[in-house]
Amino acid sequence: MTVVGVDDTDSRERGMCTTYLAARIAERIEAAGGTVERRLLIRLNPAVERKTRGNAALAIHTDLDADEAAAIATEELTPLAAVEDPRTSPGLVVADCEPEAVPDAIAEFAADAVREFHDLEDALALADAAGFHTEGWAGGHGRIGALAAVGAYRAFEDWTVEHIAYRKFDRCGTPRDVDEATLFGAAAEAYPAAWDTVDHGENAAVCVPNAPGPILYGIRGDTAEAVRAVAEGIDAEPVEREALFLTNQGTDAHLRDVGTANLATFHDGRAYRVDCVVAGEPETRRGGHVFVPIRSVNGDGEMAAAAFEPTKRFRDRVRALRPGDRVTVCGEVSDGTLKLEKFAIRELNRTRTTNPTCPDCDRSMGSAGRGQGYRCRDCGTSAPGKVEIEVERELEEGWYEVPPCARRHIAKPLARGGFDAPIHPER
Ligand code: ZN
Repeated sequence: MTVVGVDDTDSRERGMCTTYLAARIAERIEAAGGTVERRLLIRLNPAVERKTRGNAALAIHTDLDADEAAAIATEELTPLAAVEDPRTSPGLVVADCEPEAVPDAIAEFAADAVREFHDLEDALALADAAGFHTEGWAGGHGRIGALAAVGAYRAFEDWTVEHIAYRKFDRCGTPRDVDEATLFGAAAEAYPAAWDTVDHGENAAVCVPNAPGPILYGIRGDTAEAVRAVAEGIDAEPVEREALFLTNQGTDAHLRDVGTANLATFHDGRAYRVDCVVAGEPETRRGGHVFVPIRSVNGDGEMAAAAFEPTKRFRDRVRALRPGDRVTVCGEVSDGTLKLEKFAIRELNRTRTTNPTCPDCDRSMGSAGRGQGYRCRDCGTSAPGKVEIEVERELEEGWYEVPPCARRHIAKPLARGGFDAPIHPER
């Protein structure tokens, strides 16, 4: 078996092209007599600085001879390096082994690639030690992602699929012609096996990109049957080619589950799942961004968690938090702020303290003076101190998430299930 890993560190200007490149390489492998067993679309650490829109790398598993497959990939990658875009730095890694049989160190490299920052030297040393063929253009930074894609099949356990349809070449750059009524209908029928196809709250066709580029739409889900059924149900402009990718999208592979760890130990560019406490009132700032302070369970360490404007209705959930709520939050830390992707209510603070009410007059009592307790102004009845009363809460226990229109590629939608509490999915 041969594993071909490619990453062109997709340029922003040209849109998301790496999957197109992989689809073409796979077709040429088939034309050369090879069988393509699967195509992988691997999302890497979304926080990586040399970032592309989606930070994706691709792998193709085939029975074609490794040298022959490498030659095909080289022919497809070479022209990309000629593009005058400093962000394009293609890389190729070809392994002459079963995808399940890559060395431990390379599987670890792949697992870390969604959570850490790798440098090129480490990638090349590992590939050399394993005897893999590598090739780079314009600096070849894509070899980091390419090696991660080669190790991915061993590194990840949770897999989803994406069915991508590509536009005819002469239509690229023109508005995409996708009939929304059939799209929304097909999406509803396949939900929740296919997810993030549309956003009902925003009335948006999430699966249809806005950026220029060759993709007409990408349907994500748990099974090939579900995503294919959606694609078949859509009336749209003619499609040039289609491809099914096995992906780590929608799996939360980027999150480190750190339990009740001290928030002060968190680092920028890493994503966490942490149990903590709401430490203050949520605040809506200029631009509609909502910030809420969170504190470690043991009282150490405090930081802000944020739901930015593009997260839309999710901000109402964050605004509904109250100090004292016990929560689990998930998101990436950037500039010392945790950007919320989802959170779970573990225990709601359902009480607040207030002045006591006079049992005879049914009126709120006033302070009787410093350290003197409370007294009714009308009848003189006294009470020793403030009392707790129950507060109505909009939130319920369980998980809340950003809507599909704001979902990061790698973040797991609640609709996929497997969460440790009730879910309140957005769709
Ligand atoms: Zn009274």
